[in-house]
Amino acid sequence: MSASPTTPPSSRPARARGDSRESPSPPGVHHLRTADDAVAVRTAMGTAARVVVVGAGFIGSEVASAARARGQDVTVVEAADLPLVRSVGPGVGEVCVRLHQANGARVVLGRGVTGFEETAGRVTGVRLTDGTVVPADLVVLGLGVTPATAWLRSSAVPLHPHDGGVVCDATLATGVPGVYAAGDVAHVSNPLFEESLRLEHWTSAAEHGAAAARHALDPASARPLVTVPYFWSDWYGHRLQFVGTPRADEVVVTDSAVSGYTALYRRGDRMVGALTIDRPRDIMKLRRSIVARRPWADIAAEAA
Ligand SMILES: Cc1cc2nc3c(=O)[nH]c(=O)nc-3n(C[C@H](O)[C@H](O)[C@H](O)COP(=O)(O)OP(=O)(O)OC[C@H]3O[C@@H](n4cnc5c(N)ncnc54)[C@H](O)[C@@H]3O)c2cc1C
Repeated sequence: MSASPTTPPSSRPARARGDSRESPSPPGVHHLRTADDAVAVRTAMGTAARVVVVGAGFIGSEVASAARARGQDVTVVEAADLPLVRSVGPGVGEVCVRLHQANGARVVLGRGVTGFEETAGRVTGVRLTDGTVVPADLVVLGLGVTPATAWLRSSAVPLHPHDGGVVCDATLATGVPGVYAAGDVAHVSNPLFEESLRLEHWTSAAEHGAAAARHALDPASARPLVTVPYFWSDWYGHRLQFVGTPRADEVVVTDSAVSGYTALYRRGDRMVGALTIDRPRDIMKLRRSIVARRPWADIAAEAA
């Protein structure tokens, strides 16, 4: 983000939910946001036997996959009835659960965490909302991030009423002269999908950063960003890739095998998103179809 009328704190623009720097938790409980966090988790994995991952999103799932690759006992705890609903929509979460289970990780759905058990100053278990305790000597919290924008509340920069992200138009302008938003914190209007999206992906952050800089330097040349969001995640030797938006009227699964899984997201008479597992060529083709606004009927006929 460029200069603001308000003094920013020396923190990151998005903060991990459950960050133990906000609410203390016993040693052995880690969040994962910075490079230092990653080093701390990797070091802790060297001695942990029982790993509990809280949050079955992409980061939590990648941690679970890494722990299973080291032969550790892994339990993934997810408060929702299905994981990843916000990122990829309902339905696809089921195949993600199957991926964990097929690789020896236990998955506990529909239960949140109420606290931690500790002995001699170290975590020994995770207490769940149903009163059960999952034994653990390493806990990794992968609960997503919330935009750390409280410091902007007294400014004219518009903040989203639900999550506090910075609202901007398709050129990343916030409406306050000279102030642009980019990356995890930005709610960007996307003309291709006729909706505003706040995404936590590298590719979006990189595209936004470059465009915001160009637009800030030469506002007269600013053009709407018409991009198809894209992210990937590697679990248990499989590559999950998603393009577009999960906000759809219907999700059609055209291949339900774990390796080869393909889900197409329809809104009206267009495809607006696609998720594949281990189909890197297909996903790029599907991305081009979204950009070209190809009719759903043609795509569905091809898939059939
Ligand atoms: C563990 C982990 C794994 C991930 N894996 C993937 C993945 O596989 N694929 C994917 O697409 N995405 C992934 N992501 C998400 C991706 O990293 C983020 O979407 C991306 O980094 C967001 O970029 P950003 O610039 O918005 O924010 P950040 O990367 O958080 O960068 C913000 C920068 O701003 C600096 N800063 C903060 N406050 C100020 C200030 N007041 N003044 C100046 N500078 C400031 C910070 O120090 C930081 O360097 C992952 C994230 C995490 C945490």
